[in-house]
Amino acid sequence: MTCLPKCAVLELTYQCNHKCKFCSCPWYAPNSSYSIGQELNLNQWKQVILKLYDLGIQAFSISGGECLLKDCLPDILRFINEEGQTRGLRKEIVVISNGLLMNDDYLQLFKQNHVHLSMSLPGIETFAQHTGVDNANGVLHWFQEAKRIGLNTTVNITVTKKNYYELFRTISLGLINGASSVLLNRFLPGGRGLIYQDELALNKAQLNCMLDTAEEVLILSNRYGFVGTEIPLCAIDSPEKHKHLRYGTKCAAAKDFFVIDPAGQIRTCNHSPKVVGNIFHQEIIEDKEYWNIFANSNYHPTICQSCKLLNMCDCGCREVANILHHSPSAVDDSTELYVARPAKP
Ligand code: SF4
Ligand code: SF4
Ligand code: SF4
Repeated sequence: MTCLPKCAVLELTYQCNHKCKFCSCPWYAPNSSYSIGQELNLNQWKQVILKLYDLGIQAFSISGGECLLKDCLPDILRFINEEGQTRGLRKEIVVISNGLLMNDDYLQLFKQNHVHLSMSLPGIETFAQHTGVDNANGVLHWFQEAKRIGLNTTVNITVTKKNYYELFRTISLGLINGASSVLLNRFLPGGRGLIYQDELALNKAQLNCMLDTAEEVLILSNRYGFVGTEIPLCAIDSPEKHKHLRYGTKCAAAKDFFVIDPAGQIRTCNHSPKVVGNIFHQEIIEDKEYWNIFANSNYHPTICQSCKLLNMCDCGCREVANILHHSPSAVDDSTELYVARPAKP
């Protein structure tokens, strides 16, 4: 039996009420061959959750699509929480939402079930341009209400060529309105985002501007933040400047987390279009060759092999490399930001 990471991301539904240009859900990719299955019902999700606990999973993130569109979401959260407590686990459940259907009842449900709520805010002026829905003020309102009842939240910002100019304001308003922490994701091509790659991908100067701007707001507000989508270390001009901002440079897929899609199919990362197994099958990871590339980090591009930073850097996103070049060990040249310049000793 394959050893699984300790965190499972449950994608409860393929449906969404936003049409984000940056959306990386593989089933929204142009000409997608992703096999959309029948969505699991409450009883099936309960079986999945029990199986995952039995396999040693300790933490859950809930996403979609948009998870508030799944009618059994409240029962699933209660089940994860109650079953976790029975087993002596008291980890927060992370719920990732676009906030469009948020209401007071959901916030109370989250509070009662130890949820950490991550809401998407891809710009203020540019919110509608990115998502197709005009709801930046709605998201800010629910950050305020969450803070009022003592619910921890993250403002989750996908940074693109179209919104990086207003990043200072976007982070500031997220924090001022009550978000407890900041998560930035540089735009990565994949899913629907493949259509908009030229429009949205940051170049190297914009990436560095994103990092420096975030650091500036975080210093001013005395907060800390994180960039989740892995960055090649050599693309960062002045890493020593960033004390309040941390960034991922090592791919966590199949090591720290894995993903179960709305029909029970397994992928290494939410960004990945490749199904490697099914939670209902006896051998849940069937494509072990692909899984082990990620689990064992066997994917560094040839051009990086001699780099002294290789133990700290996985050379950008390994799924982007696969999506664009059909190999997880290809160069992530999804944007101009990748500069293969192996660091000197
Ligand atoms: S990024 Fe999230 S909110 Fe936007 S379309 Fe995709 S699933 Fe929906
Ligand atoms: S050369 Fe490769 S391993 Fe070295 S810092 Fe750049 S991306 Fe990372
Ligand atoms: S495949 Fe790895 S590097 Fe890419 S987004 Fe997923 S965890 Fe990050």
